[in-house]
Amino acid sequence: MSKIHNFSAGPSILAPVAFEKSIEAIRNFAGTGLSILEISHRTKEFEYVMEETRQLVKSLLSVPDDYDILFLQGGASTQFFQVPHNFLRTSAAYLKTGVWAAGAIKEAKLYGEVNVIASSEADNYSYIPKDYTIPTTSDYFHCTSNNTIYGTQMQHFPDSPVPMFCDMSSDIFSRPVNTASFDLIYAGAQKNMGPAGVTLVIVKKSLYERRPEGRAIPSMLDYKLHGEKESMYNTPPVFPILVSKFNLEWVKENGGCEGMQVRNEAKAGLLYDAIDKSPYFRGTVNKEDRSRMNVCFVFNEPTPDLEQKFNAACKEAGISGIKGHRSVGGYRASLYNALPLESVQALVNVMETFA
Ligand SMILES: *Cc1c(COP(=O)(O)O)cnc(C)c1O
Repeated sequence: MSKIHNFSAGPSILAPVAFEKSIEAIRNFAGTGLSILEISHRTKEFEYVMEETRQLVKSLLSVPDDYDILFLQGGASTQFFQVPHNFLRTSAAYLKTGVWAAGAIKEAKLYGEVNVIASSEADNYSYIPKDYTIPTTSDYFHCTSNNTIYGTQMQHFPDSPVPMFCDMSSDIFSRPVNTASFDLIYAGAQKNMGPAGVTLVIVKKSLYERRPEGRAIPSMLDYKLHGEKESMYNTPPVFPILVSKFNLEWVKENGGCEGMQVRNEAKAGLLYDAIDKSPYFRGTVNKEDRSRMNVCFVFNEPTPDLEQKFNAACKEAGISGIKGHRSVGGYRASLYNALPLESVQALVNVMETFA
């Protein structure tokens, strides 16, 4: 089989070493003679995995001691309502930068007033709004660091006067962030951390004092309880956590988030340069807001014939997963951590040969 260049937007590419270690753990987990798929999460072997994964997250993102690091289920989409369930008392400020941000807004409205303080919806989310103020009366400010579908990314975060929450599903561990400036970060694993099935939540413990009076919190939605139980209140997603651990070990061995940033900027730079130089293609978003994770581009003058030829050339070169999201059209190449530069070069070669 020839090499496949995997540009999938999610679930997406992971470090090859994570697959090898995972296969071994399915056969014989940590020398127990049993599979990771058939062993109790209360064993010391699995408890060790949980602790190690937590420590990896802590060190890679420099998470301060007064934060809980949780491994939950339900995807980022569950965080869209778990966040306001725990912390929306009267009103919260949201930045509307894409379909996922809109999803978070929709769910928060179930709990209180949602103040959309800026939106790029009228321009098909092709930029990140920068001119806005966060009302000091907000319970929190919510933003999305990387807009997976549109290919925009926040290169700066505001100095928020209220607790700052961020959906980092599609760029967590891709660059260093100042974790201490956020009060809550969440990410579905399947874009840049591990396989689908686990959701990472990093939450500042002092927030627990700000929970809405008189609102009951079911145990499974209670961050504080998950924190106290070290993500073992119920059966955690053992296998996705283990695979994430293997993938994050690879991140750490390759320079951590700083190393990933260098790698990702090189890949994104190569591809955006090719797009900007090409007489056939153009990028779809504001240049300064371009994502290093999801690169969206379209034909200047698309015709079914051109598209068909380009798609065939990509297929021939082993390029997989670059079809754009239906709301943008064209192409989207996702360049998550594990994607090698060589794969981007393969795509650029096709674009150049095609021209
Ligand atoms: C994929 C994605 C989601 C949805 O994640 P699920 O885990 O499928 O619920 C939310 N936010 C962002 C930024 C995403 O990229």
